[in-house]
Amino acid sequence: MTTNATPDGPLAHGALDRQRIMHPFSNLALQQQADPRMLARAAGVWVWDADGRDYLDAGSGLWCVNVGYGREEIADAMAAQSRQLSYGLCFGSYSNAPMVELAERLMAVVPRGLCRVLFNNSGSEANDANIKIVRLYNNLRGKPQKKKIISRHGGYHGSSIGSGSLTGHPVVHRHFDLPIDGVLHASAPDYYRRTDPAMTPAQFRDHLLGEIESMIEREGARTIAAFIAEPVMGSCGVIIPPEGYLAGLQRLLERHDILLIVDEVITGFGRLGAWFGSDMMGLKPDLLTCAKGMTSGYFPMSACFVGERIWELLTSDAGSAGIFGHGFTTAGHPVGAAVALANLDIIEREHLVARAADVGGYLLSELRRRLGEHPLVGDIRGIGMMCGVELDGVQTMGRPFRDIATAASRFSTACWDEGLMVRGGHGKVMAALAPPLVLSRQEADELVRRLGCALDRMQAQPN
Ligand code: PLP
Repeated sequence: MTTNATPDGPLAHGALDRQRIMHPFSNLALQQQADPRMLARAAGVWVWDADGRDYLDAGSGLWCVNVGYGREEIADAMAAQSRQLSYGLCFGSYSNAPMVELAERLMAVVPRGLCRVLFNNSGSEANDANIKIVRLYNNLRGKPQKKKIISRHGGYHGSSIGSGSLTGHPVVHRHFDLPIDGVLHASAPDYYRRTDPAMTPAQFRDHLLGEIESMIEREGARTIAAFIAEPVMGSCGVIIPPEGYLAGLQRLLERHDILLIVDEVITGFGRLGAWFGSDMMGLKPDLLTCAKGMTSGYFPMSACFVGERIWELLTSDAGSAGIFGHGFTTAGHPVGAAVALANLDIIEREHLVARAADVGGYLLSELRRRLGEHPLVGDIRGIGMMCGVELDGVQTMGRPFRDIATAASRFSTACWDEGLMVRGGHGKVMAALAPPLVLSRQEADELVRRLGCALDRMQAQPN
């Protein structure tokens, strides 16, 4: 029988972790060889490891801790609601007050035209629900062949069978027989990595829209149900689309009777310096996905917002639609809703949306001023409290990085060693920066300083 005890006493958490935990998105074989980074406590934008060393969390965990760590009022709301109604069934005709109050508060901030909300636990679940709603919509309106969904290479929409198919990262597909049938991927609007360097942003935009239009024509608009897009792509490296791309996309989809699903799992709740990226970019989503910042990661909760034209059809003939056969045990959780309400109180009272624009703008200008000339830096981009510093080996080594995955992992370690937690970008060597929206200007200065030290470390041995 395996035991946790050693002759000297129980195993340390790190060693126990290696024996017991299967970490998401990790190399399972390598994971056995080194202890994990044990996080012990956190407050504001700071995290401390088990040895008491501080790290500035420039990734808000996984892009989620918008109001910062350790907020007492969220903890209090969670405790109070756990005592009052610790679980609330919401299937069928059951409901609970925090869930309803949350829906009402959310309707005041989400883009206009969205009229109903379906709560889930994760972003993946919310996008799975969106796939089903899209299918239901077209089945009910007598267009059963209109089912395909276009996503984009590099887009991230989750890792379940459905949402993982929408995701455009090979690592989510390979070995899992994904994507499922009926999911297509168009190119990402990644101007920095465009294949034709001579293209201006406007030419690049037209080229991308032309590619999507050709895809629609090739497949036949009668087979395409929806397009899913993040307003700014997060996990593939803070990709900000060229001016006019999203507006042009919306017009293209309207022309072909294709629904628009906007995935605001990262960009919602102030991250871009607006409540939602859709508002900022003039989008009118038919379906909108939220998670992460809705509870700032204090509780697993997500939401699908449904637009009027879909809702009208779903409810136009109760007989033909029958039961909406979808939902999860802990959806619409009253404790999660209480957390989300307290989170919204903080965002509003502390004007965090405006702060994201203000301090985020400062962060971007300081990154450019202090790191823009660093030989390893190829591109610095940003919008609101979401910035990307992309590395390029060309100036330092006279060629691009040979092995992107190894270089990315070494850069992430260099950041960690300098006391900085950053996200990477799939297929890139970079720091994706999305600190909590409570970041101060002094903390932004410290972030840039630590990132500069990590770049110097990397420069000494670039790969
Ligand atoms: N959509 C986007 C844009 C995301 O960034 C993520 C997660 O990073 C998801 C969906 C999936 O959310 P979850 O990990 O909660 O399933």
